[in-house]
Amino acid sequence: MSLVIVGSVAFDTIETPFDRRERIVGGSGTYCSLAASFFTQPKLVAAVGEDFPEEMVEFFNQRRIDTRGVEIKQGKSFFWEARYGDDPNQRTTLKTEPNVFENFRPQLPSDYRQNGIVFLANIDPDLQDDILSQVTKPQLVAMDTINFWINRKPASLLRVLEKVDLYFANDEEIRLLTREKNLIKAGKKILEGGPSLVAIKKGEHGALVMGKDFVFGVLAHPCEEVVDPTGAGDSFAGGFLGYLDKAGNIRDENEFRKATVYGSVMASFVIEDFGINRLKSLSIKEIEERFSYFKKLVSF
Ligand code: AMP
Repeated sequence: MSLVIVGSVAFDTIETPFDRRERIVGGSGTYCSLAASFFTQPKLVAAVGEDFPEEMVEFFNQRRIDTRGVEIKQGKSFFWEARYGDDPNQRTTLKTEPNVFENFRPQLPSDYRQNGIVFLANIDPDLQDDILSQVTKPQLVAMDTINFWINRKPASLLRVLEKVDLYFANDEEIRLLTREKNLIKAGKKILEGGPSLVAIKKGEHGALVMGKDFVFGVLAHPCEEVVDPTGAGDSFAGGFLGYLDKAGNIRDENEFRKATVYGSVMASFVIEDFGINRLKSLSIKEIEERFSYFKKLVSF
């Protein structure tokens, strides 16, 4: 099949209680496509400014990420700044500057438009909608978002949500979107509004995937030191969808289970170091070892 990903490619400034990094490469599209690249050859759609390092685009290509959909535009790249509290799930966004993503309406290369998996990673919902309108008969459409867009563009967001099959959210986002405290009730509300599957990520407590007659839960990897939680959600989606694309079967519940575990595996690696560092040094062998470890973790 194929996996098309639209999302931010960005510079991030990140502060944790222990350390700080200025303007490191991040973005939802970056994390997701790098995580997916361990399973398949994702096609990335994004805009970057002239300040974005060429070597980074080359690195994407080395990782088999198709970057024909990445446009270099006049101006500055997307910029995001955030601070984490002692609890890694507590994140305060200090700045969001869309820059070159403002009014970015790309024309997809023709082979990006064919039926496959489309992932609308966290980005302006109007851009997500525009990308979706250019794709014919996708086999599976998934989306993610963040509080920033839930608060700023709720109507656009709900319009996209109606058209997708799978919604990835963390506990905070799904509560905000559905105004429902209980996660099961929140998940059911989403399932009434369009998607047939919802994946709820719960940080150190793992993830829950729900469908109308389907529920599957996975524990998070028992990690003693979270260095930087940024990108965990996007890497979860990248591992999940990258695996499904490779498996080529998007109707089999068992494949959804395995995809959930691969998503958790990828998220568990990315938080071990700042930014995309851990995804740079990661090997397929390590991924498979951790997959087996996840299996052991819940077998009795
Ligand atoms: P995650 O930690 O998985 O929620 O994703 C963090 C990534 O999302 C960072 O690398 C940011 O550059 C990117 N990001 C943050 N806010 C936004 C936004 N409003 N739209 C698109 N991408 C964003």
